[in-house]
Parts: sequence; structure tokens; C-alpha cells
Amino acid sequence: MVTASAGRGPIAAGTGAEGDGAGPPPLSLYIHVPWCIRKCPYCDFNSHAVPAGEAIPEEAYLDALIGDLESTLPAVWGRTVRSVFFGGGTPGLLSGRGVARLLAEVRARITLEPGCEITLETNPGALEEGRYAAFRDAGVNRLSIGVQSFDDASLRRLGRVHDGGQAERAIESALRSFDNVNLDLMIGLPDQAETAAHQDVVRALGFGTTHLSVYQLTIEANTVFAKFPPRLPEEDVVARAQEEIDGLLAQAGFEHYEVSAYARSGRRCRHNLNYWTFGDYLGIGAGAHAKISLPGGGVRREERFRAPDSYLRNAAQGRFVSQRRTVAADDLVFEFALNAFRLRDGFAPALFAERTGLDPTKFEPGLREGVRRGLIARHPGRIAPTGLGMRFLNDLQALFLPAGEGGAPEPAADS
Ligand code: SF4
Repeated sequence: MVTASAGRGPIAAGTGAEGDGAGPPPLSLYIHVPWCIRKCPYCDFNSHAVPAGEAIPEEAYLDALIGDLESTLPAVWGRTVRSVFFGGGTPGLLSGRGVARLLAEVRARITLEPGCEITLETNPGALEEGRYAAFRDAGVNRLSIGVQSFDDASLRRLGRVHDGGQAERAIESALRSFDNVNLDLMIGLPDQAETAAHQDVVRALGFGTTHLSVYQLTIEANTVFAKFPPRLPEEDVVARAQEEIDGLLAQAGFEHYEVSAYARSGRRCRHNLNYWTFGDYLGIGAGAHAKISLPGGGVRREERFRAPDSYLRNAAQGRFVSQRRTVAADDLVFEFALNAFRLRDGFAPALFAERTGLDPTKFEPGLREGVRRGLIARHPGRIAPTGLGMRFLNDLQALFLPAGEGGAPEPAADS
């Protein structure tokens, strides 16, 4: 089975994460599947409950995705794809046959690099466990499971459709078909006991998966939790839990390589690394976002029609993109910082100019101010957030906002 491979320490040239500096950035493909069994009360993703008793319109949606991909190909002629990610929603609601058809259609239109990482997100209790082997046979080589917790009471309070036993069975089933599996866990859950997050991680470790993602629950606007806020643990309780989890995972041999991501050696998520190193990505499907570097310089961002009905209706007319814009140079500086400083090991100094096409002096004011405040360190061959910088990441990233919006001021011409 083809597996992910990414280097230890700062992402080294040759792993594909940073590229060789020549030509356009690495390219990934994101495929959005916008349906779930039920909408979770904390979720602000573009996900929609499948109406009771109905099936998702799989064939029509696959046709739309293929048309969507075709429409976007002229922007990336001659380029190859290094990772594919089925995200959602719950892509595991697709049939194995549907995933196989889609991947065959993708391969017929664009070259996937040898060893291309192909991830599919699933959720326990989504009736999809019987499909895992079919997903593998279709070409998927990495599974990501939305476990969130093994504690039944926590899962109920989160409005999840599964319980702890179903989560365990889903993981066991996944490991029978895949040797590269990520588990998503959440901490800071409503009424969560102080030790419960730690216990969830211990249980997750027991399965021996290659990757863990540990997110803190945040209350997002326009969610049920925003309207009816649950009682969340105090910040310092969550911070202590996070510290304990970091220690536990380090002891277990996991590399904490990004704010929320922990991987066994060589199993960092290549797809997400491409986002964090400001690579390019095509995004197809309802509400999907794309970022494409333009041949003459600059970056274009696109968003697809968001609601599934609207996406399908427009797709039937050959329209997919609802918004398209070229990113202003000042915004590119901030967008680069927003992504790259999530990486604990940092990035090569040349990456900024490579990925943005901007003069490195554009990055200097924020960098200098970050170093002055102890948030950023310059090491030989890399720039990285310090421990303080990781803790106050929002403050660090804000240094790269355009001057006047909170960013560090541009130096005077003679400074
Ligand atoms: S399963 Fe995931 S994507 Fe679906 S509603 Fe819940 S949190 Fe959102």
C-alpha cells in the first residue's frame, strides 16, 4: 500500500512539502462531500443532514464533480497532483463504487504523482464501515475517522450519531483495510471531566494508528451551540489537558508537527502539509475552496456554490464557481503567515518568496517584530514559532496583517 511520507524536523526539500523552488508550488486536490447523517450542534462546516429516509444524490453529484474538475483543468495544465482529500460532511456516505468511479475519472484527467496520498474522511455510525475495504480497493490509502471522544455522555452532548463502542468498531474495521489511519479527537467538551480528554487519548493510542488530530471545541457563529451555549471547561483546565496530551503523545513516539496534528515518523499528512506550506489546491464540490498560483505571478482563490442544491443546479448549466478573486499582495503576506506558522518546526526562509512570488522584504517587518517579542525564532535554514509563539499564535499571525490592520509597520526606506 502506498503511504504518506514526510520528513522529520523542518520540512525538507525533497519530501515534496516545500518543493524545489522551481516552477509552481505542489498541487493537491480537495473533493467536498456536503452531507452527514445528522448536523452536529457545534459544526460550522458546509454539511447538511440527509433527509430521513432519503439517499444522497450520488450519481448526480459525481457527474457534477467530474464536470467541475474538467472546468478547472485549464488553470493547471501540465501539473501533477501530490495528494487527494475527500472531506466533508461525511465522504464515507459515498459508495465504494462511487469513490472508485470518481478516482478513475480523476486519473483520466490529471496525473497523480507516484505515491499520491489519497485520504477519505469517515464518521463512526455512518453505516459505512462495510465500505472501508471497497474504499481501499478504489485507491484510497489513508482513512481519517471523526471519533471526537470514546465517552458516551460526551458524544451525546456533542450531538454525535455514534457512541464509544461504535467508534472502537469503526477503528478496528478501518485498521483491517488501512495501515495509515488518522483519528480526530476533541478536547474542552461540554461538562467534560478534567481527566476525560486524557483518557480519550489513551484509548486512541491503544489502537496504534499512525496519526492523531486533537482539536479544542470552539463555539462558532451560526451553530446550535452559539444559540444555546453549553457549559465548557475553564481555559486553564483545557490548557492543562492539552499539556498532558502533548506529553503523553510525545512519550508514545508521536511528532507534534502542527497546532493540532501528531504523527508517527513518516506519517505526517501530506495534504494538510501542502496547505500549511502554502501550496496550491484545486477544490471541487459544494462550497469547496481552491488556491491557484497564476503563471504571471499572484494567487487566485475560488469558492464553489455552497448549498448542495444550488451546486447541483448550477453544475447542470456548467457553472461551478460562485466567487473568484485575485489575492492582494498585502493579504498574501498574512495568508502565508497564517498557514506557515502553524508548523512547529517552521519553514525554510526561501519559502515565502517561492510561494507568494513577493519580495522577501515584505515578510521582514512582521518577522523582526515577532523575533523582538519572542514569538518567532530564526534558526540556521529555518524560521519557526517559539513555544511562546505557538501559545499566542493569533498574536504572532496578526503581526503580518497589513499595516493599519494591526500588522507590524513597514520600515522607513533608510532603516
Ligand atoms: S459529522 Fe462532522 S461534518 Fe458532519 S455535521 Fe458533524 S461535525 Fe459537521
